[in-house]
Amino acid sequence: MSYDLIVIGTGPGGYVCAIRAAQLGMKVAVVEKWPTFGGTCLNVGCIPSKALLFASERFDEAGHAFAKMGIKVSKPELDINTMLGFKDQAVDGNVKGVSFLFKKNKIESFQGVGRILSAGKVEVKGVDGSTQTLETKNIVIASGSDVAKLKGVEIDEKRIVSSTGALTLPAVPQKLLVIGAGVIGLELGSVWRRLGAQVTVVEFLDRILPGMDGEVARQFQRMLEKQGMAFKLGTKVTGVDTSGKTLKATVEPAAGGTAETIEADVVLVAIGRTPYTEGLGLAEAGVTLDQRGRVQVDKHFATNVAGVYAIGDVIAGPMLAHKAEDEGIAVAEILAGQAGHVNYDAIPSVVYTFPEVASVGKTEEDLKQAGVAYNAGKFPFTANGRAKSNQQTDGFVKFLADAKTDRVLGVHIVGAEAGEMIHECTVLIEFGGSAEDLARTCHAHPTRSEAVKEAAMNVAKRAIHM
Ligand SMILES: Cc1cc2nc3c(=O)[nH]c(=O)nc-3n(C[C@H](O)[C@H](O)[C@H](O)COP(=O)(O)OP(=O)(O)OC[C@H]3O[C@@H](n4cnc5c(N)ncnc54)[C@H](O)[C@@H]3O)c2cc1C
Repeated sequence: MSYDLIVIGTGPGGYVCAIRAAQLGMKVAVVEKWPTFGGTCLNVGCIPSKALLFASERFDEAGHAFAKMGIKVSKPELDINTMLGFKDQAVDGNVKGVSFLFKKNKIESFQGVGRILSAGKVEVKGVDGSTQTLETKNIVIASGSDVAKLKGVEIDEKRIVSSTGALTLPAVPQKLLVIGAGVIGLELGSVWRRLGAQVTVVEFLDRILPGMDGEVARQFQRMLEKQGMAFKLGTKVTGVDTSGKTLKATVEPAAGGTAETIEADVVLVAIGRTPYTEGLGLAEAGVTLDQRGRVQVDKHFATNVAGVYAIGDVIAGPMLAHKAEDEGIAVAEILAGQAGHVNYDAIPSVVYTFPEVASVGKTEEDLKQAGVAYNAGKFPFTANGRAKSNQQTDGFVKFLADAKTDRVLGVHIVGAEAGEMIHECTVLIEFGGSAEDLARTCHAHPTRSEAVKEAAMNVAKRAIHM
């Protein structure tokens, strides 16, 4: 069996790459070790977490927001099994969608662990232990990432869970301790807080959402605290005692100092993800990794071994599904002789809590560090008509534009629906647009997106509604 391309892994990087390559006329096969396609994103990541965020937000609204709009309902009751079933249906629909697309695009699939024997040769080891060798002109490694482990805290996916276990808790814990104030910790912490858990988030750094704009992170933290989430920043968890009915986590200041104990029914370890390269045979095939265990690639996603490429979470860059997808498309186009390319300055990132946080491009900290002179334009949702009519006024939009050229370098939004609003800013950055360009673009009234326009106007200090 011989192919133009074999993709190892069918997460958003791998499956999108396979489809684009097939569209471009290549004979394509995929190898996937899990029973379903779609990788982390569809099975245990983006899709199930968003289904639970959606459902738990409705639960929270029914309990707290309906009454003030004159909608009288009795206190909502949680049926956790049905809610988990709702999430499972979302996963099922999405993974079936990938199967359908593979068939539609005549992509062959092999279930098993893919191992690179050499350039042009992939061995697939099935669950029954049988092996077969496939031949191919090119290989794309899209093996993704795995949960980062924390020393002294053994994940059992029952009481001490990773994000995967936190998506299937059979009951709402009374007390949930989240280790790590990154996107995944805050999203899943929000889910269980809305459903009734008392949530404490412990973070090693002295801020939440590392890498995001500092002002945004500070204001967002206050919003989460108002909702009842507690934070212990600059603090590390050194171990969890599992001997009793209640878990006892030992925490101490990140810089060292007096230890204390936090009790919890469930501990969620959400300290990040690590590239996954197990079983791929990379050392034997001579594929170089970088110092952080990621597959090293050049600007065209090529590894040091001819005909072997890599994309997605297993290479450097933000661990985001859409980044993996865009790399999948780019590498397929490069293999077809086209000019596939990813603009890493225009990759949006979203935290799907309430309110949402969305950003694209540089943060103020990035610009200060790089010594770039910039103008900032801000606009609060308290001054936006639609936000006021909906009484969802928390948050603001911030534009950062080059001081000399007015070219937009970054946009940061905290507020309801921020994740949908960020995309006009992404298009603006992709096209090298200025704050003035956006400020002169007509926006429908009344929309929350008018706050985006007003923030752009305010780069030149000429917002109208404040
Ligand atoms: C809880 C959670 C929520 C998330 N939410 C979001 C979100 O809202 N938005 C967002 O952009 N990102 C989100 N992410 C991150 C996102 O899931 C990843 O960035 C994305 O899945 C990476 O895609 P990938 O194709 O590189 O790898 P993956 O999706 O990890 O897929 C890799 C695939 O390769 C397979 N594989 C590995 N090795 C082999 C082998 N040797 N042989 C055969 N198969 C193999 C694996 O089984 C897997 O199916 C979330 C992650 C988690 C954990």
